[in-house]
Amino acid sequence: MAKLAWLGLGAMGARMAARLIAAGHDLTVWNRTAEKTTPLVAAGAVAADSPPAAVAGADMVFAMLRDDDAARAVWLDPSSGALPAMAPGSLAIDFSTLSVPGARALAAAFAKSDVRFVEAPVSGSLPQAEGGQLIFLAGGAADDIDAARPLLVDLGAAVHHAGDHGAGATVKLMINALFGAQVAALAELIAFARKCGVDPERAIDIAGQTPIMSPIAKFSAGGMLSRAFAPAFPIDLVVKDFGLVATSAEAAGAKAPLAKATGEIFEAAADRGYAGDNITGVAQVYD
Ligand code: NAP
Repeated sequence: MAKLAWLGLGAMGARMAARLIAAGHDLTVWNRTAEKTTPLVAAGAVAADSPPAAVAGADMVFAMLRDDDAARAVWLDPSSGALPAMAPGSLAIDFSTLSVPGARALAAAFAKSDVRFVEAPVSGSLPQAEGGQLIFLAGGAADDIDAARPLLVDLGAAVHHAGDHGAGATVKLMINALFGAQVAALAELIAFARKCGVDPERAIDIAGQTPIMSPIAKFSAGGMLSRAFAPAFPIDLVVKDFGLVATSAEAAGAKAPLAKATGEIFEAAADRGYAGDNITGVAQVYD
């Protein structure tokens, strides 16, 4: 059986790694904050105390990390990074949401080694990670994505090959910007209905019966109306992702004024103390 390693056991990574263990894979895990390995070791994983120790002898290495800086450090650091310790011909798969230039820079670093690299950011949140229903947006060589596919089916419902390295990050950031823009618009419009003297629940119910309201908008509006702001996709990460859209748009020479304005609304929510709340917590800006 293939020997696997996992780097990064945050809210998403811990749930995804747990699925690989439950599916019977031989998994070595590492996380910067070591305590987070404990539940996975209890489930059958082996804990390593550094990325190089985790990836030694592994056929495939997965990472689920916060952002460009974390991914660069964990993969590429000359002394504490994973890449210098990976076996020739092995495969690295990064699930983190990165900027487009960040994903391409990682790919360029791997291209100088004998290790293959796929970026595969995910659409879906904690329930989908836990239930193996994530959607992978992969960038890289078709052969490498096909090599990872048998493991990705333990973690998700679909694997889309978006294109070369950076294409996965591009599609992921498009999806998140579209999600964030809808949630920010709904937060504003629920308050609009209330101020206009219309029951927001009734207004959303009616709007939800038109083709204008997307399934995720309906779900998010429900969360705002019931004031359920426990984090799945926290505002802190939403702000991070709109920053990645801005960085990626600037590097590509693309105009992104709507993403910029939406990002500022989530930044305002974070500044008011709601960074740890779910994306729907942006509604509190309009209280
Ligand atoms: P999280 O709970 O904040 O976990 C972040 C992970 O990155 C942790 O393992 C953290 O280690 C590690 N990390 C952060 N900075 C690091 C550094 N400088 N060096 C080494 N490790 C570092 O976030 P998450 O919700 O699991 O999200 C992970 C990724 O998936 C992000 O890119 C996010 O945008 C994306 N994503 C999230 C969701 C969601 O709904 N939450 C959905 C889709 C995609 P520590 O434990 O030591 O802090």
